[in-house]
Amino acid sequence: MTEIRLHDTMAREKRVFTPADPARVTMYVCGPTVYNRAHIGNARPAVVFDVLARLLRHVYGADSLVYARNVTDVDDKIIEAARAEGVDPSVITKRYEDFYLADMGALGVQAPDIAPHAASHVGQMVAMIARLIATGNAYEADGHVLFHVPSDPGYGALGRRDRDAMIAGARVEVAGYKRDPADFVLWKPSVDGVIGWESSWGRGRPGWHIECSAMIREHLGETIDIHGGGLDLIFPHHENEIAQSRCAHQGAPLARYWVHNGFLSMAGSEKMSKSLGNVVTVADLLAEGHKGEVLRFALLSAHYRQPLEWSDALIAQSKATLDRLYRAVGEAGGVADEGVLNALSDDLNTPLALARLSAIEDGAVLRASGALLGLFGSDATGWFQGEGDARIDGLVAARTEAKRRKDFAEADRLRAELAAEGIVLEDGPQGTTWRRA
Ligand code: AMP
Ligand code: ZN
Repeated sequence: MTEIRLHDTMAREKRVFTPADPARVTMYVCGPTVYNRAHIGNARPAVVFDVLARLLRHVYGADSLVYARNVTDVDDKIIEAARAEGVDPSVITKRYEDFYLADMGALGVQAPDIAPHAASHVGQMVAMIARLIATGNAYEADGHVLFHVPSDPGYGALGRRDRDAMIAGARVEVAGYKRDPADFVLWKPSVDGVIGWESSWGRGRPGWHIECSAMIREHLGETIDIHGGGLDLIFPHHENEIAQSRCAHQGAPLARYWVHNGFLSMAGSEKMSKSLGNVVTVADLLAEGHKGEVLRFALLSAHYRQPLEWSDALIAQSKATLDRLYRAVGEAGGVADEGVLNALSDDLNTPLALARLSAIEDGAVLRASGALLGLFGSDATGWFQGEGDARIDGLVAARTEAKRRKDFAEADRLRAELAAEGIVLEDGPQGTTWRRA
């Protein structure tokens, strides 16, 4: 069997991956908070862990992996977005979850086996919080329930930060009801008109971290093989998940391997942020006419732990390489190349795996090897024919999005731009379709 090695954030080194049960490998990745469109940085963990899932299925068998990616559908940012639009939070979460799945689907990301939603697991969270109170790791204060960080001597092992850095980094509110400034919220009160559930601590809602601990326990067990997410989640989110789960489960560790992807930034600027005005959504990029598979290739062009600089040049280069590979790709039925498999098995070395693809001469082997990376979703004819259509689909999607924002001037401009090319739009109950006049 192929030996997989993964860099484990907890051990701070690459370790040989040995699942507790090779017939049921378990992986959990923290998924989106559904209140806005995913930017290309948000797509990085989705694509990276999609490749890891494909590799695990290849090595252990298609039915041996249970991959869960949650949907955070209870969150203050969702509540604010719902209030701003004057709609129920479920309208916001449904809309943006649908967008998320469509955007990730365009990038060739397969749906995880389980997509647990926080709002449907409040009962499990309440049970875990009650357990943490019973074990002396949590306490009720002022309508809140807090996890008492000093009660867990193992706290901080993942990020290895010192206490002051942790308090500063978590930007935790130093509220009067806290016994220790590092204590974090498990449950908080909801005022009237704000989403909430009845509990023995009053009507309220869960804090963010507890949802992952409770949903992992519910769907995968006390200890899972792999826990993943972006680097920014190491602290406080994963540190807090670890503490909650271990204290609720008599010391059983939450995960055996911790895998974190590095950050994507826009070329020339430090980070992607709304205030810098350089947030690029997956939808924007598709609307510009870039194919999802080109974006996927670009995301995989750097090793997942390294920072990735996003730029037009990177997209253009990815497209040129994929066009070249599509000229060589053959029929299904080949066996994946050892070199590609070995590169991926060595801590998901996707840049090396992509370089190896270019050296493969047999078209069927190339197709099978690309499949490990989720590439070659179309056949060569479709790839080159779809060229123009993908751009039109993108413009139509941009118009739909403009209408949703009530930016009718932009929507009309896009309709006119398409009309000038002889494209006729038809708006119907299922959305907008187009045809050549
Ligand atoms: P969020 O919806 O903000 O909770 O983020 C969803 C996922 O995207 C998390 O795993 C984050 O770590 C990850 N993420 C957010 N921004 C970036 C970025 N610029 N580069 C890479 N990953 C990111
Ligand atoms: Zn999580």
